[in-house]
Amino acid sequence: MSSAEFSLIDRYFAGIARSSSARSSYVDVSIGDDCAILSIPDDQQLALSIDTLNADVHFPASADAKLIAQRALAVSISDLAAMGATPVALTLAISLPSFDEQWLARFSEGLKQSVEHYAIALIGGDTTQGPLSLTIQVHGIVPRGKALRRNGAQFGDSVFVTGCVGDSAAALALMQDRLTVAGEQDYLQGRYYQPSARINVGERLKGLASSAIDISDGLVADLGHIVKASGVGAEVVIDSLPFSPEILSVCSIEQAREYGLTGGDDYELCFTATPLNREKIQALAIELSVPITEVGQIIKGSGVRCLDQQGNNVVLTKTGYQHFQ
Ligand code: ADP
Ligand code: MG
Repeated sequence: MSSAEFSLIDRYFAGIARSSSARSSYVDVSIGDDCAILSIPDDQQLALSIDTLNADVHFPASADAKLIAQRALAVSISDLAAMGATPVALTLAISLPSFDEQWLARFSEGLKQSVEHYAIALIGGDTTQGPLSLTIQVHGIVPRGKALRRNGAQFGDSVFVTGCVGDSAAALALMQDRLTVAGEQDYLQGRYYQPSARINVGERLKGLASSAIDISDGLVADLGHIVKASGVGAEVVIDSLPFSPEILSVCSIEQAREYGLTGGDDYELCFTATPLNREKIQALAIELSVPITEVGQIIKGSGVRCLDQQGNNVVLTKTGYQHFQ
């Protein structure tokens, strides 16, 4: 590696690893050697997840580098939340078209803020030249045997979601001019670029939830993964979906439902639990100040059905998610 590359890593990445608030007691060796080294307590398991975000596919290349960093980190950490894991460390592989110092300074600022927010340590990575792309691997710990899996949903369980759904899909539609409205859109843009990975909820759902997933591709698609893995079906009552006032100020309730059910990028948690745990779940929502809404139930059969309040089937116009572009 050239000394220019080394000083770049030192300035924009190693500095984050050195800052005291971003260190972790599990990290024995951090940036600067050939490998990072972690010690995992005997009663814990290591939970790993990796995600790549490519410019103009997963985010607009022209976006503020600070927001790109924050979105990439939240997207990755959200997978730890979905398993009930606690973040420990991350590695970052970044491909850059050029070593643009202004861009890097801004990226590094966003990364530092998010690393501190989620109390996760940056412990290594790789820096290369090429089309703008970010790959983040997150490492978390979870008490042995206690991870929240996709395959535990049981007939009769209730289906819950954290926060509000559809905001990110609405933000994306606004950015891509598929939706046009006048006025303030900062909240929705923030939900797209700075989603809240629900780590504190996931950690506390261990022992309460029977299955969990984070919503990256829309509620129907992601709940679909739970029911498939669990060998059951699910009903979602569309009138019960939680929406922010902001989404309802930029589109109709019907459009908001479509965004929530089939749009992606919410990074809220969808989980199932026995109705016996309802009160504990609501107490948790209040304690953590995160809304948790019951949106349906697990049924026999397969697949995800959407119903209106009268119990009529509702047909969706789309499933899955849409890439940027
Ligand atoms: P090697 O050639 O041994 O793979 P590198 O020269 O790629 O090592 O990186 C030197 C050190 O800097 C390593 O500890 C690596 O983990 C770290 N590093 C490189 N790029 C990044 C990055 N983007 N973010 C965090 N750490 C990085
Ligand atoms: Mg390398």
